[in-house]
Amino acid sequence: MSARLEPCVSIDFDSSALDEVVTKTKDWALMHGVCMRSRQNFSPDSINFAPFVLVPSTFPKKEFEKAIELQTLVNEMIYRIANNYEFLKTTLAITNTVDPFTAQLFKIYTTVQEEGVSQAIDLGLIRSDVMLGAEPEMPLSSFKLRQVEVNTIAAGFGWLGPSSGRLHRFVMQELGHGDKLQQLPENNALEALCGGMLKAWEIYNQPQAVILFIVEDITYNICDQRFHEFEIRKQNPNVRVVRRSLTQLGRGGAVLDAERKLIIDGQEVAVVYFRCGYAPDQYPSADGCEWDARLMIERSKAIKCPSISYHLAGTKKVQQVLAEPGFLERIFDNAEKVAKLRDVFTGLYSLDLNEEGDRAAEMAIENPEKYVLKPQREGGGNNVYGKEVAEVLKQLKDNPERASYILMDIIQPPLLRNWMIRPSTQPMLVDTLSELGIFGVIIGNSKEILHNSMGGHMLRTKIHTANEGGVAAGLGALDSPFLVDL
Ligand code: ADP
Ligand code: MG
Repeated sequence: MSARLEPCVSIDFDSSALDEVVTKTKDWALMHGVCMRSRQNFSPDSINFAPFVLVPSTFPKKEFEKAIELQTLVNEMIYRIANNYEFLKTTLAITNTVDPFTAQLFKIYTTVQEEGVSQAIDLGLIRSDVMLGAEPEMPLSSFKLRQVEVNTIAAGFGWLGPSSGRLHRFVMQELGHGDKLQQLPENNALEALCGGMLKAWEIYNQPQAVILFIVEDITYNICDQRFHEFEIRKQNPNVRVVRRSLTQLGRGGAVLDAERKLIIDGQEVAVVYFRCGYAPDQYPSADGCEWDARLMIERSKAIKCPSISYHLAGTKKVQQVLAEPGFLERIFDNAEKVAKLRDVFTGLYSLDLNEEGDRAAEMAIENPEKYVLKPQREGGGNNVYGKEVAEVLKQLKDNPERASYILMDIIQPPLLRNWMIRPSTQPMLVDTLSELGIFGVIIGNSKEILHNSMGGHMLRTKIHTANEGGVAAGLGALDSPFLVDL
């Protein structure tokens, strides 16, 4: 039996009451940009509302506050790893031999390290994703934060996260629960993330320079991206945002001048914000022009978000090695910080071809449903679950490619009943589970941190039978936390 949370308000509606609130909330979402482009009926001229759950999800206040408080430490951890070439080199050495994508990224990293970096400052806009976990049969009060991963590239939902909170405020009022709004925490993610980009832009100190967003050929999560652009304009009306794909840049759309300024159509670029470039299929051209663009950006004077070192610091292999006994202690000389971070780590295991890796593989083959098998990929839909964990590990026995995966304890959050609302689909009453993401903003050079702050949150919720909950991928739904004392 899985543990269960109580919905924040009654969700037993008769069909006409349900229809009324759902129809009105869909319109609210459409009219407030809580939307995405449709993959099924794509048109550049239209958007659908993004899937959402009807009422906010009950979430323990204590754990929420812990996650918020922890974020600056998570930021600092990423900063320290990203500035530790030797650590990244050692940690990713085996991965680089079996995973060509990580190896390509690493090659750019090494090239730029050997040449000498042109821009000492890095901007990190990161998101630490956590779930509530406990042993089965344990009481609700024993559920604690468990870290799923830290995203250091293209961490989205700075717009959709806070928007979901506003949507839920509207719903709660519609349902006659306006008195409970103080249990929906404030969320300034968009302001914080765009504020981070503008701080970097100011540090670059060239009033004419633009901020470059690296985007996909087709952006489905368009509202989330565009509202970042609009927010930048709002916070500083003098700053221009331009959007380009890696392919465009690699096909002559950008040049480096003699001083290593990155120039696009005659405009100097101050800050490069990647919303793309984390997956192999985002480098599609046979001639490698997207890789040429990535290298050009990395060599440039522009402030990168992320620079290649932050990108590599967010890999799954790095996450696994950090969880090994003694590793955090090498990075931090402060026992209290180490303890706080370690407290949210989930069990992680190396699958390198050695005794330790063999032991982990055997353990997972015996009890596959207790683990998740993860390749070095980002963006959702790549992990292996359940019986397949054992099948894949058996196939990989004695195969060096096993080292391109890591193994992780599965986190089993408490279930919560809610209405799932999707475009062109009837509302569904389902058991759900949630993943909380906390944003962080960090700016620094190899010697010092210049800015470190928590940057708001987002909550994603999925049907409990789905392995993964990507909203853009169609499995998850927008949500916001409703804080309670358990
Ligand atoms: P990605 O980089 O593809 O986002 P994640 O590590 O975040 O990789 O995994 C994708 C999704 O898989 C998560 O959002 C979560 O829903 C699920 N997941 C990942 N790790 C675990 C875990 N240890 N326990 C339960 N679910 C997990
Ligand atoms: Mg993820």
